[in-house]
Amino acid sequence: MRKHGRLQTTPIDYSPKRPAAASPVKIQDLSFRDGHQSLFATRGRTEDMLPIAEMMDNVGFWALETWGGATFDAMHRFLNEDPWERIRTLKKYIKKTPFSMLLRGQNLVGYRNYADDVARAFVERAAANGIDIFRTFDALNDYRNFETVVPVIKECGKHFQGCICYTMTEPRMGGEVYTLEYYTSKAHELEKMEADSICIKDMAGLLSSYDAYELVTALKKTVSVPIHLHSHSTSGLSAMSHLKAIEAGVDIIDTCMAPYANRTSHLPVEPIVMTLLGTDRDTGFDINLLVSIGEIIERQIIPKYRQYLNDSKVSLTDISVLLHQTPGGMLSNLANQLKEMDALDKIEQVYAELPRVRKDLGQVPLVTPTSQIVGVQTVNNVLFDSGGERYTRITDQVKDLCYGLYGKTPMPINEDVRKKALKGYPRGQEPIACRPAEILEPELDRAKQEIKDLAQNLDDVLIYALYPVTGKRFLKWKYGKEQPPPEVQPKSLEQVRAELALIEKAKVGNVIEKTDKPVPAKSDHLRKFNVFVDNEYFEVCVEEAGRPSVVGRVPPAPGVACSAPPKPSAPAVPGAGTPLTAPMPGMIVSIEKQVGDVVTAKETVIVLEAMKMENTLAAPKSGKVSEINVKIGDTVKKGDVLCVIE
Ligand code: MN
Repeated sequence: MRKHGRLQTTPIDYSPKRPAAASPVKIQDLSFRDGHQSLFATRGRTEDMLPIAEMMDNVGFWALETWGGATFDAMHRFLNEDPWERIRTLKKYIKKTPFSMLLRGQNLVGYRNYADDVARAFVERAAANGIDIFRTFDALNDYRNFETVVPVIKECGKHFQGCICYTMTEPRMGGEVYTLEYYTSKAHELEKMEADSICIKDMAGLLSSYDAYELVTALKKTVSVPIHLHSHSTSGLSAMSHLKAIEAGVDIIDTCMAPYANRTSHLPVEPIVMTLLGTDRDTGFDINLLVSIGEIIERQIIPKYRQYLNDSKVSLTDISVLLHQTPGGMLSNLANQLKEMDALDKIEQVYAELPRVRKDLGQVPLVTPTSQIVGVQTVNNVLFDSGGERYTRITDQVKDLCYGLYGKTPMPINEDVRKKALKGYPRGQEPIACRPAEILEPELDRAKQEIKDLAQNLDDVLIYALYPVTGKRFLKWKYGKEQPPPEVQPKSLEQVRAELALIEKAKVGNVIEKTDKPVPAKSDHLRKFNVFVDNEYFEVCVEEAGRPSVVGRVPPAPGVACSAPPKPSAPAVPGAGTPLTAPMPGMIVSIEKQVGDVVTAKETVIVLEAMKMENTLAAPKSGKVSEINVKIGDTVKKGDVLCVIE
């Protein structure tokens, strides 16, 4: 058996029966979680994992990552799928390979620290449903946020993988915080917490090749548990950094099947298998099996998801991620958010402001939820600050961070920003220094009470406890109390193919089907639609076959005249009160006042969630609430009148 790099003249055995390597690199596949999360907006459906499930089980992966925060969120919010059910279904087909999940420490699969009782119940249920490896991270690398979940993982007899979030403040490892010593001391801490393995979690693909070599070498000397590398392909460094990590003795790496790999996703598994073939670190995988799985994914699965792929650039790599330190997903989020607010021209200002906000907030690693916290605050500063005053609109999560509710930041928070954030903060003006969950009241019993009419088991209760608004909506869909909207329904491959064919026709200006049938006369009810395909524009006329169409309108209730005009939404009439308008698009998560309530200026009336961050919207003046135009769960546009104060 060869060491890497040495040429040999005897033929290499490609068959899966080739002699086992002395120290094979173990591989975890991410196609079912981070793969579709990175490329296809986390929209992967369980039914599209089943065609390859059994084959994937036969590859010999160390583990399959099947679950995580974004999957839990996207499944119940966008796919009308029960996140717990996915684990159980996949387990029926995948019996040999362990399942891993990405657990956000005390944040679980949400965006804030939950109370200890919720955290314990969540881990117990995840283990009972079939999760074997808990890859656990904290966005601040504050391991006090592991203290509740780790003992539960251990009690359930499961594998605790402790993560060190890898981040930088310079283009290479080093600088004032994130040095080699920082990482080795974090590894020490994790080993003391009895981590079964340690993961370098490079969520933005920042780790460069020689830093990978140096880091893995140092960690292997520091701790005795296996070292696992998780990185992303965004910057184009990942193949080189993984190979250097392998040379430095990394035990486990993360890859995706080729169709789920590259761009902002991960290293594909196939070239790694071929690179290591016949060496002392040979994976032992059957390359032909991998190729057949890849073909099924390409043919049967990917066509359904192509629309989510951001392929606006020809280039697959983006080295600028090393220069501005912003993860790829966060960049597209920021751009989307600006676009929705008609402020895409401000993107350069956002790039410039982001490192300043990050520094003010203690040079936090940028990973969920800190990437959202820093990103949304940056956008708020760019859009709402004026006249030299900064931080005029501070999100609730920045206030929580300043209070210490997420834990200890790697560097101290800017004192001026902290003071401003904590002015009027309900928990107090003095930040805490203890483990954050210590000050959180138990939440589980209250959640059980609140959702007892809908939830049928603890798994249901947890969906609600973690996502009160969208979770409750999902439970209504699940138990037939509410009809799920068409956009959450799955599409078949045939439907997708028909849509693609239509787009192709539109591209060549041939939208109208040529038919031998006589063309019916156009009625007065013909409705015009503007159709945009790429940069081309088409005007399409639509009419229901057989009778005049009422497309776009809800069918009228019996007895109601069809021609009755829809009730216009209440306009802001000057003099009739002061409207509170939505400063940004988002979803209403809480309404603190009712019609008739007396409010004082700056008192919270409504909480609006935008980009997962909550913004408290205060009364524009003192007075009486005369009108509330929204309800919890409503999606609103920028400028919508949410309520009126008289
Ligand atoms: Mn990742």
